[in-house]
Amino acid sequence: MTSLEDLPLRDDLRGKSPYGAPMDPVTYALNVNENTHPLPAAVRASIVESLAHALEDINRYPDRDFGVLRGALADYANTTQQGQRLDASMVWAANGSNEVLQHVLQAFGGPGRSVLGFPPTYSMHSIIAESTATSWVSSPRGENYELSPEIVTEAIERVTPDVVFLCSPNNPTGTSVSLETIEAAYDASHGMVLVDEAYVEFLSPGSPTASDLLPGRERLMVSRTMSKAFAFAGARVGYLLADPAVIDALRLVRLPYHLSGLTQAAAVAALRHAPEMLAMVDDIRGQRDRLLRELPLLGYSVSASQANFVLFGGVADPQQLFSELLARDILIRDVGIAHSLRVTAGTEEETTYFLETLATLSR
Ligand SMILES: *Cc1c(COP(=O)(O)O)cnc(C)c1O
Repeated sequence: MTSLEDLPLRDDLRGKSPYGAPMDPVTYALNVNENTHPLPAAVRASIVESLAHALEDINRYPDRDFGVLRGALADYANTTQQGQRLDASMVWAANGSNEVLQHVLQAFGGPGRSVLGFPPTYSMHSIIAESTATSWVSSPRGENYELSPEIVTEAIERVTPDVVFLCSPNNPTGTSVSLETIEAAYDASHGMVLVDEAYVEFLSPGSPTASDLLPGRERLMVSRTMSKAFAFAGARVGYLLADPAVIDALRLVRLPYHLSGLTQAAAVAALRHAPEMLAMVDDIRGQRDRLLRELPLLGYSVSASQANFVLFGGVADPQQLFSELLARDILIRDVGIAHSLRVTAGTEEETTYFLETLATLSR
């Protein structure tokens, strides 16, 4: 049998591990922060109708610039945008926001360049840095995983990265980054600043977001996804909001026709039903708040989460607790933080089963 080591692999990829969230089939999958509520049947039927229509032209390449989808994403983003309206020229999209991040590092990172991140943060940030041969530099967070204008400014002045990755709310801690901190990062940096807002819909309604800072900041980028609140993880659609010049830069590195006609049609149809797609977000926020309230009653500590998951600490042996939950048909996530595990806020029934099961296990 040939092993990886026998192949003439790029030297900088030797010994690396791929992204590896376990995918065990379980009844209670609370491990990758999906919206665990299925789509309403009427929305599914409407998407199927759009897909059927898209199949009429499937012998042709799709719209390479996916103008209709970009317009629909701009309209959707504008429903929460404070200040300047966004339009299609400020929107990019790809097969998940992971691919968007890859485009960003292909265009603005690469050999001889660096990206600065603040772990613990989304594991794909460093993996995409590696795959694009961008050097990943990390700098620590403050108390309770918080970032402040001082912390980010000090790190950026010390590292002088070509790209800065912030994540708000941050995965896996759930903590959000203030606009003041994002502005400070932008002012301290001479490179690009990306704010990963995969969980933006789970912030309290009316919260300002990084996209409100876009006017006049042509080096700022905000990435978002339809995979989490929007209940569309399987369709693979992520997007980015930025100055039109940034979008032009990303066009240089994307593969032509990277978004299939079926993906575009499905996403546009889903966006037409945004209120129904997002109907469960309030409920999920409620389950997150319940986890934040009830985990401490079981003796665990929690990080202040504004996302649809909670990182809880005070676990004697995370691997053991993870396995004991798995044996009871519950999959959560061991994110490699000492004495901590992360759980997704699911439906009320899922959250109840998780909490009741956890109560029967020793810490
Ligand atoms: C889940 C997640 C993503 C989403 O990735 P997609 O490729 O859009 O599914 C991006 N960033 C963070 C921080 C995430 O947790």
